[in-house]
Amino acid sequence: MTVQSLWAATAQPSPALQSLEGERQCDVVIIGAGYTGLTAAHHIALSGREPLIVEANTLAFGASGRNGGVVSPKFRVGFPGLMARFGRDTALQMYHAGHAAVDSLVDMIETLGLDQARLHMGGHIAAAHNVHALGGLQATANWIKRETGGASSVMISADQVREMTGSTIFCGGLLTPKAGGIHPLNYARGIAQSLHDRGVKMYINSPAEQVRREGERIIVQTPQGRVSARQVIYATNGYSDQTRATDTLHRRLIPFRSAIIATEPLPAHVLAGIMPGGQVCGDTKRMLRWFRVVGDRLIFGGRGAFGKNDSHNAFRTLQRSMGDVFPVLRDYKIDFRWSGLVAMTLDYLPHAGQLDDRSFYAIGYNGGGVAMSTWMGRQLGAMTAGKKVDLGLMSGEKFKPIPLHAFRAPGVRLAAGWQQFLDVIGR
Ligand SMILES: Cc1cc2nc3c(=O)[nH]c(=O)nc-3n(C[C@H](O)[C@H](O)[C@H](O)COP(=O)(O)OP(=O)(O)OC[C@H]3O[C@@H](n4cnc5c(N)ncnc54)[C@H](O)[C@@H]3O)c2cc1C
Repeated sequence: MTVQSLWAATAQPSPALQSLEGERQCDVVIIGAGYTGLTAAHHIALSGREPLIVEANTLAFGASGRNGGVVSPKFRVGFPGLMARFGRDTALQMYHAGHAAVDSLVDMIETLGLDQARLHMGGHIAAAHNVHALGGLQATANWIKRETGGASSVMISADQVREMTGSTIFCGGLLTPKAGGIHPLNYARGIAQSLHDRGVKMYINSPAEQVRREGERIIVQTPQGRVSARQVIYATNGYSDQTRATDTLHRRLIPFRSAIIATEPLPAHVLAGIMPGGQVCGDTKRMLRWFRVVGDRLIFGGRGAFGKNDSHNAFRTLQRSMGDVFPVLRDYKIDFRWSGLVAMTLDYLPHAGQLDDRSFYAIGYNGGGVAMSTWMGRQLGAMTAGKKVDLGLMSGEKFKPIPLHAFRAPGVRLAAGWQQFLDVIGR
């Protein structure tokens, strides 16, 4: 089975980078070259300090090079639920952070002139898969209207969802205009190219094998090199199990495989009936399915029955699911199939914080980090400059390693099977 992403097949070239050999000094060494690491480097460089990135694989090898490119201000946890648990101010703070995250991505693209990221802010449709879920969307729309006085997300009828998506299976939805899609790998490569042009040092195929303190310095050891820095940022997210050096972060996360398929180019008459308004769409199932049109193809993604590796069965399940949403696509071939690791947290929220006075991190985007990781990069830039940053529920204060992680992670994946069952029986 060929597993290649549509993004890898259509991306601009990556800047030519080497692996680290020998000794380097810098202000902040960043482990991981995804959006979190790259955007943190951008802000650190802007402030006149010297960042340096070490990446275990290729540039944006992790989720940043493989995701669906959906840009949205949403979290996995709804705002009414956040308000019920943590109060109005905290829920509002999260609402504004979600929107600020989208702003920071748009700003990054405009500031660096990243046309190749192909940002299209066409809006996001959350499509209800049953009446119960529709009630949840309505509660969110009501909350936004009541608590923010605005209409950043509005309810749309089943007929409107049908017109906007071309699918008849949804019973209504929530439209969020401040959302859209990008070419995710080009976004990462574009930021990296800009950093490269500004002389920021980045090394690929250079896993951080060990991180240690030597007096006032942080030492990061790679197979053939060594970096001495004042501070370190861990930006390894769902890929934090590659070496022991990031074990403490890995134990805070539950990595989950998420997969995507892309159809062959569709004829104009078929394409005209699918997402004609250029929105992106995700449904309300616990094991979310989402889709968008990219060029003349539909890409369709989902989480669920995926093990540690890619499997024929998992992709076939996804293709069947696509056929349920768009029966017309059952006759078309799949040209690309790929997957990557999403980093789940026990509270379904991302977190950023410090491990000690010189070690920082931002991880746990729960499958929604395209915009949020860009915002976190900005926060890491501020945090490493000694500025106070109020992350509210996303702070690292109570974000600790999961006790008995080795046993709980498989347990949570098993529980996902139960969640899928609930989806199937319509609960
Ligand atoms: C299939 C899929 C679809 C998704 N779709 C969407 C979407 O449509 N919208 C959305 O908002 N979010 C989506 N996401 C989530 C989003 O992609 C992530 O939240 C985001 O990319 C996280 O960026 P990051 O930089 O924190 O981590 P990553 O991009 O995962 O980068 C981590 C990097 O750290 C490197 N690394 C790990 N250990 C070491 C080490 N020891 N030394 C050096 N380097 C190391 C890894 O090689 C990797 O490149 C999706 C994720 C997946 C997997």
